[in-house]
Order: sequence, then structure tokens, then C-alpha cells
Amino acid sequence: MTRATVCLTVDFDAVSPWLHAGEFGDSPVQRSRGRFGAEVGAPRLLGLFDRLDVPSTWFIPGHTIDSFPEPCQRVVDEGHEVGHHGWSHTPPGEYESREAERADVARGIESIEDLTGSAPAGYRSPSWDFSPNTVSILQEFGFEWSSSGMAREFEPYELREEHAPVDDPYELGDPVGITEVPVSWQRDDYPALAFSGNRAFSDEAAVFDHWRRQFDWMYEQCEEPRSSESRTQSGEDGGIYVITLHPQVSGRSPRPGMLRELIEHMAAKPGVEFARVSDVV
Ligand SMILES: [Zn+2]
Repeated sequence: MTRATVCLTVDFDAVSPWLHAGEFGDSPVQRSRGRFGAEVGAPRLLGLFDRLDVPSTWFIPGHTIDSFPEPCQRVVDEGHEVGHHGWSHTPPGEYESREAERADVARGIESIEDLTGSAPAGYRSPSWDFSPNTVSILQEFGFEWSSSGMAREFEPYELREEHAPVDDPYELGDPVGITEVPVSWQRDDYPALAFSGNRAFSDEAAVFDHWRRQFDWMYEQCEEPRSSESRTQSGEDGGIYVITLHPQVSGRSPRPGMLRELIEHMAAKPGVEFARVSDVV
């Protein structure tokens, strides 16, 4: 029986986030960080996953697919899943209309269809945020799952039609038929390890140790006798551990080696499987 499932997920942003006016604005040097991700980081992560024989899910903006086709083709050829991550990597809340957001999602689907031959089943929001229109757009395009929310830690749940007025109680609403496979800022390499203007570098070993501890905690929860309460905590078939990696962050030395140690630690435990997100859903 599977006691714990690990979903290695890769947000293959390449240059796309650096096209938007952010804390650094429009700059060739910032774009070079994205080029590193496409030309060096992604091949390193793919090589690591190949050596360890683990599947993964890559969320690839259409901009990356259309700008850097070779590493994207390698993702597909080596059996990894491709999920939607916008075309332009614009955070959904920044669109001025439903039409504009919908057009970007449609264009991203076209890029993925050109790459893989089929439409993606899953969506991960750029910046892990939804606009008021995102859920209905995902429904319209028939997405089966999302991996952008945080209402659970290690357990998938149903996206719902929420109602969140400022002056009335919050209502969860009805399920919309899309499974959410939750993420966590605590298991994302970007806030922990990417340099960002006002922040010093993290202790890399501490970050990887933190990720290992989270996995061990989840694994130990799964071992406990299944009361209905622990089932809610961990899920029937054990927890789902989703980690989010960016080639331009985790592809830099010495992180691929530290990632290898983390994956080997997890793989060495009985009942641990590595899966693509669609396989979990
Ligand atoms: Zn991204």
C-alpha cells in the first residue's frame, strides 16, 4: 500500500516572470536568470530525475514553450507531465477583464497542445493567486485539477464556488468539479532560495532540512492508526507531498545535489511513491 506520495513539481518560468514590471523592472540581466533556468537549470533537473527514475510535473507557461522549445520537448520525451501555467505568466488578479485572462489561458493551452499533442488536465496559477474569474475559466476549458491553493496541507480537496463578501460571513459554496492538489509557500524554493532585492541568502542546508522534516512529519502521520480524524489529516492512502521547484533557483549549484539527497531520503522509506499530479488526482 502507498503510505506517502511525492509530487515533484517544477514551475518552468524561464524568462516569462521577468517580462512584467516587478521589483526589478524590465532588464536583460533579470532575463538572464530565466535563460539560466531554461538553458542550464532545466537540463540539470531533468538529468537528476532521469538518474533517479522519478516522474514529475512541469508547469510551463506558453511563453517558455514558444521561446525555449528544446528543454520543453525533453520534458515531454522523458515522460514528465506538462501542466498549464498561463501563457504570459501574468498573475490572474492583474487582468482587467475576464476576456483578457481567458485569452491568455486559451493561448497557453494552444502552446501545450503544440508541444504534447493534447490539452493539459491541470493548472497552476502564476503567483498562486486567482482572480474572481479564474475558477469559471478553468471550468469552461475543462481542467480536471488545479495546484495553486492552500486549504489543506497534504490532502487534495474540491475547489468550490466561494462567496466572500466583506460585510457578510464567508460561505464555502458548492464544489465546482475541480480537484485542488495543494501547494505551500513552505515547500517552494523561490521564497526560500531566490535572491530578491531586500533579502539575504538563506542557509541552503537549513531549507533542504526543513523540507525533509516536513516530509518525515507527514510520513509519520500516515503511520498512526486510522481514526476518522487522522484520515481527514492525511487522506486514505497517505499524504501527498507537493514540492515546487524552479529551474532558475534549484538548478543552481549545489542545490541539484541537495535535491538528490532529499529525493533519496524520501525514496528509501517503505511505501513511498513518486507520481505525476494527474496520477494522484
Ligand atoms: Zn511561475
